[in-house]
Amino acid sequence: AKDQGRNRFHYFTPSMQRNAKYRMRLIQDLRLAVTNQEFELYYQPIVCLTGDPSVKAEALIRWHHPKRGLVSPIEFIAVAEETGLIVEIGNWVFQQAARQCALWRDRFGIEVQISINKSPVQFRDEGESLDSWVALLKTLNLSRNSICVEITEGLLLDSNQAIYSKLEQYRNAGMQISLDDFGTGYSSLAYLKKFDIDFLKIDQSFTRNLDSNSDDFTLCEAIIVMAHKLGMKVIAEGVETAYQRQVLADAGCDYGQGYLFSRPVTAEEFEASCITAALE
Ligand code: C2E
Ligand code: CA
Ligand code: CA
Ligand code: CA
Repeated sequence: AKDQGRNRFHYFTPSMQRNAKYRMRLIQDLRLAVTNQEFELYYQPIVCLTGDPSVKAEALIRWHHPKRGLVSPIEFIAVAEETGLIVEIGNWVFQQAARQCALWRDRFGIEVQISINKSPVQFRDEGESLDSWVALLKTLNLSRNSICVEITEGLLLDSNQAIYSKLEQYRNAGMQISLDDFGTGYSSLAYLKKFDIDFLKIDQSFTRNLDSNSDDFTLCEAIIVMAHKLGMKVIAEGVETAYQRQVLADAGCDYGQGYLFSRPVTAEEFEASCITAALE
């Protein structure tokens, strides 16, 4: 992959070379970020729309760059995937999330189900990480379903038996599976019957225009009905208004996630707002 990168370099125009320089800098900095522990997980609540008080959260990575400040994952996840650094970063994310879950359990007696995002590259290039993940879950004595792994449709399409049995291993180890960004990637739905998936996350592009666009409402409603018939729960992403929440709840959507409830916040803030509230 390195050689390929070098070959591609020749075709860069001067302005692209500046980008290439930026990119190389980013890669160098990312390498350091792992060793220097510049990452932090933020947590965004996933709120039950049907009255179940259990607490869930999605862990979203943040990078505190020593010079550039807070860097969005939009800026570095793709590069981390291309360079393979995502494997190390992803292992850190898992460990951090699992430890946080155990910490909250010990401190508050509540198990917050934490969802982590897992890149397809991590599945392809997994090495020993599944074993070490399972070992950590055991060490921390976390109960089943305390960790949920968010994957995207692309992974299931490029489907081979290896991915299928890998997902099975995750579920056997007590982790649940969410299908992220549903509806944005591919038109085939065939994989939905081949894989055991616990949650389907409706992409924000569908929830965003629920107020004004009745086609998007029809799609959300159809997705919810289909998911329930296939035994999956539905999480709507990008819920920003009370109207959207109401419409989704009326359509039978199980969970909502979005700025209406909370932006992603630090572990301390999540503790203060969401966990304390659940205890009352
Ligand atoms: P995603 O997994 O689809 O995560 C949801 C994104 O939507 C998050 O952006 C979140 O902050 C944002 N969001 C939540 N509610 C709302 C809302 O009401 N309105 C709007 N407009 N946005 C909302 P974020 O944190 O910038 O993450 C972007 C993407 O980066 C994620 O999209 C995910 O694909 C990736 N990512 C984040 N953390 C990780 C990680 O630990 N590992 C991997 N592999 N990818 C990650
Ligand atoms: Ca996600
Ligand atoms: Ca998403
Ligand atoms: Ca996404």
